[in-house]
Amino acid sequence: MPKYVYPFEEGNKDMRDLLGGKGAGLAEMTRLGLPVPPGFTITTRACNFYSKNERFPPGLEKQMREALAAVEAKAGRKLGDPAHPLLLSVRSGAKFSMPGMMDTILNLGLNEATVQALASLSGDERFAWDAYRRLIQMYSRIVMRIEGAKFDRILEAWKAKTEGGRDTDLSVEMLKSIVDQYKSLYRAETKSEFPQKPYDQLRQAVVAVFGSWTGKRAVDYRNFHGIPHDLGTAANVQAMVFGNLSADSGTGVAFTRDPATGQKGLYAEYLAQAQGEDVVAGIRTPLRIEALRDAMPEIYAELEGVAAKLEAHYRDMQDLEFTVERGKFWVLQTRTGKRTAQSAVRIAVDMVRDGLISKEEALLRVEPPQVVELLMPRFLPRDKEAAKKAGRLLGKGVNASPGAAAGVAVLDSDLAETLGSRRFRAKEAADLVSSIEETVDASKEELRGATGHAWISRLGPEAFVIKTSEQRWVEFAQFKENLAAGSRERPAELRLKVVLTRSETSPEDVHGMLHAKGILTARGGATAHASVVARGLGLPCVVGCEALKTNYENATFTLGGKAFAQGDLVSIDGATGEVFGGLIASVEPDFEKEEELSTILAWADEIAAPFMVWANADYPRDARNARTYGARGIGLCRTEHMFFETERLPIVHEMILSAVAARGKETEAFARYLAALAKLEAFQKSDFEGIFRAMAGLPVVIRLIDPPLHEFLPKHEDLLVELTQLRLKGGDPKAIAEKEEMLAAVEATREANPMLGLRGCRLGITYPEITEMQVRAIFHAAVQVKREGIDVHPEIMIPLVGHVNELRNQREALESVAKETMEREGLAVDYKFGTMIEVPRAALTADEIAKYSEFFSFGTNDLTQMTFGYSRDDAEGKFLMKYVEDGILPYNPFQTLDGIPGKGEEARGVARLMEIAVEKGRKAKPDLKIGICGEHGGDPPSIAFCHGLGLNYVSCSPFRVPIARLAAGRTVAGLRTTVTRDK
Ligand code: PEP
Ligand code: MG
Repeated sequence: MPKYVYPFEEGNKDMRDLLGGKGAGLAEMTRLGLPVPPGFTITTRACNFYSKNERFPPGLEKQMREALAAVEAKAGRKLGDPAHPLLLSVRSGAKFSMPGMMDTILNLGLNEATVQALASLSGDERFAWDAYRRLIQMYSRIVMRIEGAKFDRILEAWKAKTEGGRDTDLSVEMLKSIVDQYKSLYRAETKSEFPQKPYDQLRQAVVAVFGSWTGKRAVDYRNFHGIPHDLGTAANVQAMVFGNLSADSGTGVAFTRDPATGQKGLYAEYLAQAQGEDVVAGIRTPLRIEALRDAMPEIYAELEGVAAKLEAHYRDMQDLEFTVERGKFWVLQTRTGKRTAQSAVRIAVDMVRDGLISKEEALLRVEPPQVVELLMPRFLPRDKEAAKKAGRLLGKGVNASPGAAAGVAVLDSDLAETLGSRRFRAKEAADLVSSIEETVDASKEELRGATGHAWISRLGPEAFVIKTSEQRWVEFAQFKENLAAGSRERPAELRLKVVLTRSETSPEDVHGMLHAKGILTARGGATAHASVVARGLGLPCVVGCEALKTNYENATFTLGGKAFAQGDLVSIDGATGEVFGGLIASVEPDFEKEEELSTILAWADEIAAPFMVWANADYPRDARNARTYGARGIGLCRTEHMFFETERLPIVHEMILSAVAARGKETEAFARYLAALAKLEAFQKSDFEGIFRAMAGLPVVIRLIDPPLHEFLPKHEDLLVELTQLRLKGGDPKAIAEKEEMLAAVEATREANPMLGLRGCRLGITYPEITEMQVRAIFHAAVQVKREGIDVHPEIMIPLVGHVNELRNQREALESVAKETMEREGLAVDYKFGTMIEVPRAALTADEIAKYSEFFSFGTNDLTQMTFGYSRDDAEGKFLMKYVEDGILPYNPFQTLDGIPGKGEEARGVARLMEIAVEKGRKAKPDLKIGICGEHGGDPPSIAFCHGLGLNYVSCSPFRVPIARLAAGRTVAGLRTTVTRDK
């Protein structure tokens, strides 16, 4: 018969699969000889049996009774004994800590008889009746699923009758009356009596633990975090110790380091005369641990000792729960502490410096999303000051999880989910700002329709956050600023920013929290539910903001005495705990000041070497950013982006018009074409100089012109409209002639399938003067910068090659231009010629192509587009999201490379084509340098695959470089070490 029950002495920390995280921790602490109340763990295997069969597995009850008997023997008390009753707690505990799981049930074993015994044994009748009322309340809510608020109302009514208004002010008689009322409520709700047999209470509590594994909250959480559904949860049954027994009793939560900043030293909260759930649920705002140190210095010393021992033992920051019962210290739980990104990085760096962990382990302890969080927007001190001066700072709470969040206050978690989860595709419009405004208008209509809330129509674009074509989330104000500064980013998607605003949160709110940008609560401390979940999700969070008073019934709240309604705008600073009315715009953080992050990323580089992270950068400004972020080269400079600048576009138009009009080299149009090219050459040369200077000593891969020419020209429909209007109004004949010429060029360059048309190397073959001009500009710039004493390494990349002859044609023509330019200048520079692999045929014939190429760079945006036959510009907006939701595709292949193999599997699709290209390419040319410059170059799973393929580097947008560096380091660290980590 399988063993379903493990007394704490029989388990250990490596048994998380079977005992869950909590059970494994209790067992390990017991083995270490720490003061843990006796108990046992019922395994996840028993839970899985229960989930399938809706009954306990055979033999479980017998094992439970045996284990219980052992606990009774240790405690010297018996469950249900009318003279010396043992009381128990029951807690769920899965392998990974899951906020969606069941709450703890305490004081199991109390009934009409044992409550009397507890009263006389403790010498405190009040305490005994309070424990009994808590049991009925918890049992009813958790096991019988009776709405908790019904019990709260009874309790609140009694509290209101006391002078102080607190739980501790209730008299024995009052508590007895509360118990009576609770029991009547139980009877009315369940049509049965509150169970008087302690063993039945225990059995039902275990059933509730197992049942909570398949509850909606838990399933949602697992889906969101990719936790498998077949792990099951364990149930921990443990002898009770009481923190609410006397003045020298209490309960607390301690982190061995500060979970918000990572600072060394105990970070704890303590509530005297309270039970564990009072701290965790944030019902009363706990005291800082200094209160315990002053009141009971020996207990404080014991706590410090246990914390230090556990941290050294686990070699990681721990999160402990402890109880003091009449001056005796007990530890009830240890687990790997959840932490903010800042704290994760700092702890990892400190622990390496203190010799506790290796650099590899440090890398594995920082997740790529945490780097994202560190690069999250923050409020500018200037803007905060202005808000303060304007009297908008309306409250201050506990800074539970850092980051700045501003958005629409929503009081209800269902509504927060509805509003926050909806994505809106940005409308197509030439004017990017009005495209956002139009999208916002349509979104408001839709959200109003879905929720019936009129206030939604009042929202402005500032209430939404914009995802750009570079996959960055930016604020509306920031987006406009970027545009004004010449950014070419387009809005791709919009989302409403929601700040979940509640008096407190419970596991019932997790679904709303998942879709909020920030969380604000009136009650609770740094270890309250809201804080723990927010830190886990990387969400800014302020809790215990006493200036906030919510009224759920009217969906209104007051903040610092000012009246607000759901839908009004609020801003919270999770790093300082400040809460503001209205919106404050947030800004990007300063990467250079993140010293610990730089340290850990430098380790990542060292561990990943020779594998590197490069950046895609089109302008000197991007190149400087890329370098700041730690890029070791530029893997893609899309030269055509420089053509779009306002002052250059007319020259580009002139170039295209003349090129299209030229019928032979002797014509006047051809001369105009060359003249336009000469002007562009000057611009390109100065841009390249800037990039070479920024990247001094590092390689710069410059891709020659790629998009179809019509992309540089006005839209056909717009031209037609303008021309018709001009003609109708009898406009200036010169203007009409110009428009007609433009229209002719647009018509001449128009294609049915432009992405499969005249673009990439096909352009250079058709209009050789364009790419020749680009190569001249590159080499003039390179020579110039080299003369300045700066080391330059241009690598010229020919795009969209499908047949070796395309490459041969361009390389031969262009390399001679390069040589001529250097000869004319009298100075040679180190250079390479190579190609992109972005057409499936190129991958399949990579051996031929390698003969004319010193390097390959996978253009996986096009390679994905062409392998699937999906238009990358349309697929995500039209059907791809549905494909992913319906499980037709496992994920979006434009984000993560298609067909990456799992352990022991073969690569497929795009991943397989890459494998073929690497194999054939290196067979033909063993020292072929290979990288990737599609969007996938910044995606952690894709980076791991590229490393495994033997690529030399990945290249991604500058702002993704830090994440990519960490991901690259973690890939190698993961291969070198077998250490796995709790979640
Ligand atoms: C690619 O196709 O992956 C690529 C990097 O080029 P672009 O996105 O400019 O087509
Ligand atoms: Mg491409």
